[in-house]
Amino acid sequence: MTEYEAVIGLETHIQLNTQTKIFCACKADSWNDPPNHNICPICAGLPGTLPALNQAVVDKGALLAAAMHCAIQPVSHFDRKNYFYPDLPKGYQITQYDQPLALGGYLDLPVSAEAGDYVRRINIHKLHLEEDAGKTKNENGQRLIDFNRCGAPLVEMVTEPDLRSADEAAQYLIRLRQLLRWLGVSEADMEKGHLRCDANVSIRPKGAAYLNPKTEIKNVNSITAVRAAIQTEIERQTRAVAAGERIESWTLEWDDDAGVLRKMRSKETEADYHYFREPDLLPLRLDPARLQALLAGLPELPLERRARFGAQYGLPEYDADLLTSERSLSEYFEAAVAAYAGDPKRLSNWMMNDVLRMIHERGVAAGELRLTPEHLAEIIRLVDAGTVNTPTGKALLEKVQESGRPPQQIVAGEGLAQVSDASQIRAICAEVLAENPEQVASYKSGKTSLIGWFVGQAMRKSGGKADPQRVRALFEELLG
Ligand code: ADP
Ligand code: ZN
Ligand code: MG
Repeated sequence: MTEYEAVIGLETHIQLNTQTKIFCACKADSWNDPPNHNICPICAGLPGTLPALNQAVVDKGALLAAAMHCAIQPVSHFDRKNYFYPDLPKGYQITQYDQPLALGGYLDLPVSAEAGDYVRRINIHKLHLEEDAGKTKNENGQRLIDFNRCGAPLVEMVTEPDLRSADEAAQYLIRLRQLLRWLGVSEADMEKGHLRCDANVSIRPKGAAYLNPKTEIKNVNSITAVRAAIQTEIERQTRAVAAGERIESWTLEWDDDAGVLRKMRSKETEADYHYFREPDLLPLRLDPARLQALLAGLPELPLERRARFGAQYGLPEYDADLLTSERSLSEYFEAAVAAYAGDPKRLSNWMMNDVLRMIHERGVAAGELRLTPEHLAEIIRLVDAGTVNTPTGKALLEKVQESGRPPQQIVAGEGLAQVSDASQIRAICAEVLAENPEQVASYKSGKTSLIGWFVGQAMRKSGGKADPQRVRALFEELLG
């Protein structure tokens, strides 16, 4: 029986987080605006208006292209893509057709495997700039149109058909989203439509070099939906081919609630759009000096930093990956490592267990915490030195975050220093035993698991300040 493999290419639309739209002075992001409140004669397509290209869109597009290792074109062109739809007031979309901003490039996906880690390189076909259209919706039997999003700045990026599974497509989007946020070019929030994706899917006998007809899935609004829609389509095509049917080039729509694909239309051909050069805009010529300055500002990329964290700090892959999931988090970690000057893995544990939880609970970036990297380093040093015990150290994280006061000051002010005076600890333990003869008796009759309970009592008496390990050792001695 023939074994099939999936062939997938993704077309992503990325909304850039510039202040203004691509060809007018309206705000780029109108997420919170009432319908049709963020429009002007230019983006509403009134006759007699002219577009003016927003340089920030070019800069962010070029920065993204550089980070994707694309060949940035010194000269590119804008074109009109003509079609009629109610959300497109001009009757055409300004896009870049045959001479886009950037060509080629790739995004590497790290893969962990038993036999060793490796990367899957997903090649990029092209990257271009374009304007967004508006939105339509049905409400109470009416068809409503909102032009707010008309002219919002988009980058469209098209992969080669290099992805081989639904999961790989999801990974691609996860890594792309990470990169977009890292570069600060887009919020990349799929729920808000900042990152949208159409998935092209076909199957072929495993290892074949040719391409079979594909279908295109539209309207997938989350990474989970992308994975589910592609998987559903791979299974449908595999069944169809097994039944001797031919795959036709349909456009499909994913219904996320029902978990099914619906046929929208048989695919239109490109000729339907009557592309031609946009006569109201000059060719886009990149100023070499400006481009050079932009490229000089390209930060270390997520995967580079991930590899460096492994090599430089001896972190396991898992730690390095998590700590570089966001740029702010990775910078926080490096600042904390420098301040701590101890074992980076120990610091990484505190970051992954405690600091990440604080970040998620508060919904902030690492750099926005009141608990600075220096505070974190100081707290771990206090624990290392035995000045405070581990539970107090963990409590200190919260106290510093709440008050913004330095850890040392809180320890002194609240008398949190660990009780390490041996006679004081011994007295507390003796007191616990004297007050609980029943528990002592059952311990002695073999219920040794009570040791934890005794430690708990002593810790409470000490106001949480005794060293739990020493307390435990003392009980073992006193009860033994
Ligand atoms: P279209 O004719 O639909 O515009 P393109 O050649 O422009 O197709 O490619 C659009 C996307 O579909 C790209 O991401 C490309 O990698 C992908 N693609 C092209 N052919 C196939 C195929 N046979 N199977 C899966 N994906 C494909
Ligand atoms: Zn406008
Ligand atoms: Mg195409």
